[in-house]
Amino acid sequence: MNAIIICIADEILTGNTIDTNSTFIAAELRNIGIKTLRILTVPDDAIAIKESLALAEKVADIVITTGGLGPTKDDKTKLAFAEYFHDELIEDEATLRHLKKLLEKRNRLHLLEINREQASVLSGAIVFQNDFGTAPSMLVTRNGIHFICLPGVPFEVKPLMRDKIIPFLQEAENLPVLLTRTVSVSGIPESLLAQKIEMWESALPQDVSLAYLPSGSRIRLQLRTEGSNARRVQQHLNMQIEKLLPLIKENLISTDGDGIAEIVRALLTDKSFTVSTAESCTGGGVARLVTSVSGSSAYFKGGVVAYSAEQKKKLLDVKAEILEKHTAVSEETAKEMALGCRRLFGTDYAVATTGVAGPNKGDDGEEVGTVYIAVSSQNGERAVRIFMPHLDREDLMNFASAKALEELVKTMILQK
Ligand code: ATP
Ligand code: MG
Repeated sequence: MNAIIICIADEILTGNTIDTNSTFIAAELRNIGIKTLRILTVPDDAIAIKESLALAEKVADIVITTGGLGPTKDDKTKLAFAEYFHDELIEDEATLRHLKKLLEKRNRLHLLEINREQASVLSGAIVFQNDFGTAPSMLVTRNGIHFICLPGVPFEVKPLMRDKIIPFLQEAENLPVLLTRTVSVSGIPESLLAQKIEMWESALPQDVSLAYLPSGSRIRLQLRTEGSNARRVQQHLNMQIEKLLPLIKENLISTDGDGIAEIVRALLTDKSFTVSTAESCTGGGVARLVTSVSGSSAYFKGGVVAYSAEQKKKLLDVKAEILEKHTAVSEETAKEMALGCRRLFGTDYAVATTGVAGPNKGDDGEEVGTVYIAVSSQNGERAVRIFMPHLDREDLMNFASAKALEELVKTMILQK
C-alpha cells in the first residue's frame, strides 16, 4: 500500500517551523509496510488543500494530512475536507463529551463555548478522539482510499498516529506486522565486521533483511522481518540475533535501542556505573542528551556548565597554569575538566567539552568549530579534538554533544 502525507501549514512554507510530523508519520507507516510516495506541503488555504487531496487521491491508498485542524480562522482543513467530500459538519455528541472532559481536566471548562466548534465533525467520518488537544482526528474512506486528517501539534500527532490510526489501518487492511531490531557494535571497521559475520549473514532466512548503518564510531546492524503474528515475528528475529551475538561479542554495545543515549544507558546499567558531565561550549547539551532517555537517573549524577575560565578553575579545579599555558580550548583543559568533574560528582566516568562554537573566534584566537572532548575514568583521561568549521553554532553544539557520548561509549568499550 502507498501513502501520501500532506502538511498543511503556512509556517512551514515561510521557514518558521520544521516539519517533523511527516517524518514521524512516514516512519510509523513504514512499520506496517506502507510506503510513503510523496510528502507535500501546502498553505492553510482551502483551495490548495483540496487540490492536494485530488492529487493524492490519484496515486495513494492512504492520504494523511497534518495541521490546520484547530479552532482559529486560519485553520482550514476541516472546511476543505467537508467541501472536498461534499459532506456536512455536524456536532458530534461523543466528541463534545470528550471535549468537555478534556477542558474540565485542564480547568478550562469556561472555554467550552469557544471550543464547541471543535466538536463538529464530518457526518461521514470515523472520529478518533484527541486525548492531548481539542481537535479530533477524522477518517473518511472513499473508493477504498482512506483520508485521514490529524492536527499539527506534534505531541498530539504522535499518540493519535501510534495508538489510534496505525491500529485502525492494521485491522482494516489486514496489514503485516513489521519488526526491526538493531544491534550496535563499535571499534571494528565495516569491512572487517562484514567478514566476521559473513557465514551468519548468508544463512539468514529469505524473509529477514539486514542493513549496515554506520553512525559515528558505531555500526548499527538493522534486521527486519515481517509476518502476520507479532509474537512469532519477534521469535523469528530473536533467533537470528542469538546466533549473531557470539560472533560480535567483543564489539557489541547494544542489542536494543540505537540512539547514542540509549547505548550509554545500556553500557552503564550493565555494570552499575555512573557518569557526570562538565561542559563549556555545549552549554548543557551533553547532560540534556544523557537525560533524554528514561532510567537515566540511575547512572547520571549531575553536570556543570563551566563557561568562564574562572568557573573552570573554581568548580572543576582546572589549574591556572594549564589555562595559561594551553588556553581554555585545549586537550589539557578538557582533560582537567573531566577529571575535576569525576571527582566533584564521585562518578565512575565524566565527560567534558570545551571549544569554540562561533560565529566569533575564541578569546585566544582558536578557530571556530574546534572542540576538545575528554573522558575521565579510573584509568585516566583521554581526549579527542574535533574540527567542524562548516557547522553553525547550534549544529556544532548538537554534533559535539553526540560526539561526547560517542567518546564515552568508546572509552567504556575499550575497558570492557
Ligand atoms: P491547533 O488545534 O493547536 O490549532 P492545528 O491542527 O490547527 O492545531 P496547526 O495550527 O496547523 O495545527 O499547528 C499547530 C502547531 O503545530 C504549529 O504552531 C506548529 O508549531 C506545529 N506544527 C504544525 N505542523 C507541523 C509539522 N508538520 N511538523 C511539526 N510541527 C508542526
Ligand atoms: Mg491551528
